[in-house]
Amino acid sequence: MPITPPRPTFRFAPSPNGLLHLGHALSAITNAEMAEACNGSFLLRLEDIDRTRCRPEFEAAILRDLAWLGLRWEEPVRRQSDHLPLYAQALERLKRMGLVYPAFLTRGEIRAAVTAAEEDGRPWPRDPDGAAHYPGLERGWSAAERADALRSDRPHAWRLDMARALQAAGAPLSWAESGAGPQGETGTIQADPAAWGDVVLSRSDAPSSYHLSVVVDDAGQGVTHVVRGRDLFHATSVHRLLQKLLGLPEPLYHHHRLILGPDGRKLSKSLGDTGLEALRARGLSAQAVRDLLL
Ligand code: GLU
Repeated sequence: MPITPPRPTFRFAPSPNGLLHLGHALSAITNAEMAEACNGSFLLRLEDIDRTRCRPEFEAAILRDLAWLGLRWEEPVRRQSDHLPLYAQALERLKRMGLVYPAFLTRGEIRAAVTAAEEDGRPWPRDPDGAAHYPGLERGWSAAERADALRSDRPHAWRLDMARALQAAGAPLSWAESGAGPQGETGTIQADPAAWGDVVLSRSDAPSSYHLSVVVDDAGQGVTHVVRGRDLFHATSVHRLLQKLLGLPEPLYHHHRLILGPDGRKLSKSLGDTGLEALRARGLSAQAVRDLLL
């Protein structure tokens, strides 16, 4: 029997923790146009895992803004909050593989450890977003120490033991990039997950991290093409590692340019004047917004 290749599947995956701006419009439109060009599907996923920052009114605004732009997506819209057991299962699997550990340091304690090292003249590694690597004191705990700490009810995160994870993954990882990274990287990109240190996979106040849920969802939704802003280019290294460890398929990646504000910085959700709602209120048509993005 001939093997039918999967239908090309694209997704736009905003977090409902603010209003959409021109950068989101570029992402959503690029996804929809690429899907249309290859007769693929275009899905919408609401990444609402962080319940402290996501709000129903932002979710409603996202649906309104995307419809106003003239975009149509396949139903149903996927909400991450509806799939928490899936992320928990993936985390369990990594626990059974011995690749994660409970991490108890608070943000303040991490900062203090980093400052102390730097004051001592020991440079501290930072991830591609500039955040200090986790000190990882708990990595070397015995099973008994770990069990004791977990019984104590102290809030903790689960972090990937990067060194062990890389060993378990075996061969170096790469991905196929049809867009470009911040330095113009394109084609076959060598993944460098170690640059991120021991990334968080779940927190006491958020049951799954962005990295874990995004790879579980892309696989669960049959996403073949991940199209998103260049700010997530380096995160792809972590995604490729998790895909390998969890036995998930490898999508193709396309990172598109970012829309910068007048100060040359990436747009943020607090920049009201580039918000789609604000542009609409100023009387701009959806076509005018599309023209702005050309
Ligand atoms: N939810 C992420 C964001 O809003 C995007 C995730 C992705 O496209 O992989 O930045």
